[in-house]
Amino acid sequence: MQKITIAIDGYSSTGKSTIAKQLAKALEYVYVDTGAMYRAVTLFAMRNGFIEEKTIETEALVKLLPKINLKFEYNDALGFAEMYLNGENVEKEIRTLEVSRNVSEIAAIEQVRFKLVEMQQKMGEEKGVVMDGRDIGTVVFPNAALKLFMTASAEKRASRRYKELLDRGDDVTFDEVLKNVEHRDYLDSHREVSPLKLADDAIEFDNSDMGLEEQFERILNYAKRVMEKQ
Ligand code: C5P
Repeated sequence: MQKITIAIDGYSSTGKSTIAKQLAKALEYVYVDTGAMYRAVTLFAMRNGFIEEKTIETEALVKLLPKINLKFEYNDALGFAEMYLNGENVEKEIRTLEVSRNVSEIAAIEQVRFKLVEMQQKMGEEKGVVMDGRDIGTVVFPNAALKLFMTASAEKRASRRYKELLDRGDDVTFDEVLKNVEHRDYLDSHREVSPLKLADDAIEFDNSDMGLEEQFERILNYAKRVMEKQ
């Protein structure tokens, strides 16, 4: 069967990556978590002292962009690719609430997006890819054969993320997580460069009241239907 490109966009913590991973596994496609790339650049900026009290030294960061090397390396035991920043595995560190608090500001920088979008387009040029993010169906792969736009209520999304962070052993409150999810959605949808929005040809998918299994089955069916038509 012809390989296609699957773009999954949507609001924070809508379970995009869980579905994307499952789908990529079932179709034997490559999965690319573009949020991990923006998170890694954010971690780089934090470590270099470019983010202080919400002020970002954009120029200094942009100057160092060529020195940021990002790589996904597949971890057999985990069953997904982990993010490496300049050779260091940062998979755990990029998921903290601290990084989540700064990532949307970093993701709004035009030069950062330019670099990452270019990398993403290269990773997907052979098709056979499931990519999740905020601008995949609108900017990275506007011709993707299947585009999904995931939504769910803010409370549902925050409680999923809150549980994830607690399971990791992070010391956070539900309220902080809810505020972060809402704040990120606002910034992501209102930035000037490639804001998060529903592509005209995307399928809107509200999973507020849907279990993982049902979501997976429905989405796999969409994919199969599109693949048959190729
Ligand atoms: O997907 P995740 O929640 O890990 O993404 C973290 C942040 O990275 C988002 O809130 C958004 O600001 C940014 N992002 C983006 N474009 C993408 C993927 C993520 O702007 N394609």
